[in-house]
Amino acid sequence: RAISEKVKKMANNGDEQQSEDYLFKIVMIGDSAVGKSNLLARFARNEFYQNSKSTIGVEFQTQKMLIDGKEIKAQIWDTAGQERFKAVTSAYYRGAVGALLVYDISRRRTFESISRWLNELHAHSDMNVVIILVGNKTDLKDAREVDTAEGKAIAETQGLFFIETSALDSSNVAAAFETVVKEIYHILSRKVF
Ligand code: GDP
Ligand code: MG
Repeated sequence: RAISEKVKKMANNGDEQQSEDYLFKIVMIGDSAVGKSNLLARFARNEFYQNSKSTIGVEFQTQKMLIDGKEIKAQIWDTAGQERFKAVTSAYYRGAVGALLVYDISRRRTFESISRWLNELHAHSDMNVVIILVGNKTDLKDAREVDTAEGKAIAETQGLFFIETSALDSSNVAAAFETVVKEIYHILSRKVF
């Protein structure tokens, strides 16, 4: 299927153990200020920005991960704030095999945007793209506007993985990325073997 065509699998000729490299393109999507850049900063560099400007995001960040004993490179794409102007281009989505669709549990409006983001993602990428719905900012307990059960329910209906995170206190951040990468790898393994 299309996922494996998009996954670049290269034999490492110089290595006697014949290890293979996997490179998965993953995109961060969701409304402005839900915490996409901070989730990536926390995951890749263990950093957090209280007043992150929309421009802190690099184009993409390559992160090595060990999944089932295999080294996988996740090439994680972050927006540079263009989602504020509904101007995420098709180049951003091209070749993506995974996505983190992030909303802010303290701002219901960002939760209500989920279907729009799903439509946009599916218009620009393969239907098999692995998606995790991420309810971020669980540290803002008193400001919560979206119940965990609501996130779970929409994820089930849409066939998405689901997790709640806090980039501020690090809760579940690695798990969010690892869930996506693991599933892509498992789909690929089932296909290849
Ligand atoms: P993006 O526009 O989706 O990339 O969002 P940013 O990562 O730039 O974050 C927007 C704002 O939310 C910044 O002020 C961050 O400090 C804040 N933020 C991000 N993640 C969290 C979180 O988990 N908890 C809290 N309390 N604030 C967060
Ligand atoms: Mg950002």
